[in-house]
Amino acid sequence: MHSFSRRSFLAGAAASSAATLLPATGAAALAGDLVSRASRTEPTALLRVRLTDAFREVMAGFDLTEHVHDGQVEVVAWPGDRARLRAAGISWEEVEGDLGARFVADRLAEAADGRARPQERTGYRVLDDYRADMDRLVELAPDLVRPLLLDSPLTHEGRAIHGLVIGADVAVADSDGRPQAMMCGLHHAREWPSGELTIMFAEALVEGWLDGDAEVTGLLEQLCVFVIPVSNPDGFVRSREAVPYVEEIAVVEGLTLLAQEGPYHRKNLLKHTALPGSFEPQQGVDINRNYPYMWGGVGASGTTTSQTHYGPGPGSEPEIEALTGLFRSTQILAAISNHTSGDLVLRPWGWTPAEPPDEAALAALGDDMAGPMGYTSGSWNEALYPGTGIIDDWMYGTLGTYCYTLEHGSSFHPVYGDNVPGYFADNWQAHLKLLRSAVDTAQHAVLVGTAAPGTVLTLAKDISIPLSRAADGATRVEEHLEATMVVGEDGSFAWHVNPSVGAETLESGGQPEHYVLTAQAPDGTVRTWSGVARRGDELEVLTAEG
Ligand SMILES: [Zn+2]
Repeated sequence: MHSFSRRSFLAGAAASSAATLLPATGAAALAGDLVSRASRTEPTALLRVRLTDAFREVMAGFDLTEHVHDGQVEVVAWPGDRARLRAAGISWEEVEGDLGARFVADRLAEAADGRARPQERTGYRVLDDYRADMDRLVELAPDLVRPLLLDSPLTHEGRAIHGLVIGADVAVADSDGRPQAMMCGLHHAREWPSGELTIMFAEALVEGWLDGDAEVTGLLEQLCVFVIPVSNPDGFVRSREAVPYVEEIAVVEGLTLLAQEGPYHRKNLLKHTALPGSFEPQQGVDINRNYPYMWGGVGASGTTTSQTHYGPGPGSEPEIEALTGLFRSTQILAAISNHTSGDLVLRPWGWTPAEPPDEAALAALGDDMAGPMGYTSGSWNEALYPGTGIIDDWMYGTLGTYCYTLEHGSSFHPVYGDNVPGYFADNWQAHLKLLRSAVDTAQHAVLVGTAAPGTVLTLAKDISIPLSRAADGATRVEEHLEATMVVGEDGSFAWHVNPSVGAETLESGGQPEHYVLTAQAPDGTVRTWSGVARRGDELEVLTAEG
């Protein structure tokens, strides 16, 4: 069993980044910033609100967290929100009366923790730490890990999304047909543990590989794993680095005012120019409402200031274009999108309470992941609240991926040392279960055949995807998916792929979507195959003669 021994390289990573725990900023500049916000006298607070019919009617206008339990949801109350709740006749229970003060207290606790345990990670990474720590993993295991760069397009502030490709013989891990899985974090900027858990998963895989852990080694010899810790880098920088170096917090009077805003930023940084004078957290698009599947419907808002604003169009945001660009060109069979908080394992659908066609398998894996962690397992729609344009529905509905949202812990950025390592220890087995599901051939299709070594196989599928509201006059978008692999030296291949038939077609009984496989040999010869692939199929698609 894997022991989380925290090899010296991980301790080294923690120590090296402790100095950049929070960027230093001059107190004078801060004071000026605070003066401009001095009119804000109502602290941002965290409230617990019962999910009554009356609240459900107005809740799209409030900043709902993903902390839903016992029929109640925790809500971030920005200035003015309490008055609006009162006007709507909604009552609440106060969880945290001043989130700025909470933030400062938690960061000071981390600073004290860091002085007591200088060799361990005791604070959250900043964006540069993620980059440095991923680079370090590549250096440690260059045959297992390589960088993943998603820079088309760049974000609104000009950033790329960085990640890792992990798998034995990593140079060909994403092009030799083996099963693929994906883990991502920080769609929502303020959910800091979600990025930590994602990179800790990568670190544990590398650690297990270097230690010769039998289970990790076995999985990484069969799998390609994409790891994307920070899906929303602009928003994360805004949230993580808005409040300056922690040692100064205690001496800059009124700093809790500054901590009312930035640390609680959720969305990306699209500037809505039509918002003069609005405070910063209202800016942006909720990128986990921007995916082009049933986009623009329940649980998302067209109001630009809403924390669940779905954006100007389906898939309009650069982060979503970059991420879906990767997903459309790969065959990711199983995925986890990490979030904070609520201790939930959520599966499709978000847009409807109806069960998806693969409910039995999705529920079995979700329950299996959730059980030992003490998390609640359920559909996004029913265990959380309705949502549209979410990654789970897009990946499952468009690609066929078994995609889960995991909601970890109890708050956005709790004191690191008391919480995050424990979350990870609880989550490790669940993450491994997801990887095991990706190698289970009963849950996906395998295309087998023979072709000249070096033959490039391209697998394409066209699928029509429903939207909740019209975009450019259309209520559907046409998706073209196209992945490639390269046939190895022995001239045989087994390509592990998602089913060609979409979930909507499975439900409606319509004409099944099919794959078109094109094989281009090094000598220029081209062969093609076309057919329907379903879960559990093994299809012989090319033979030496054929
Ligand atoms: Zn979230």
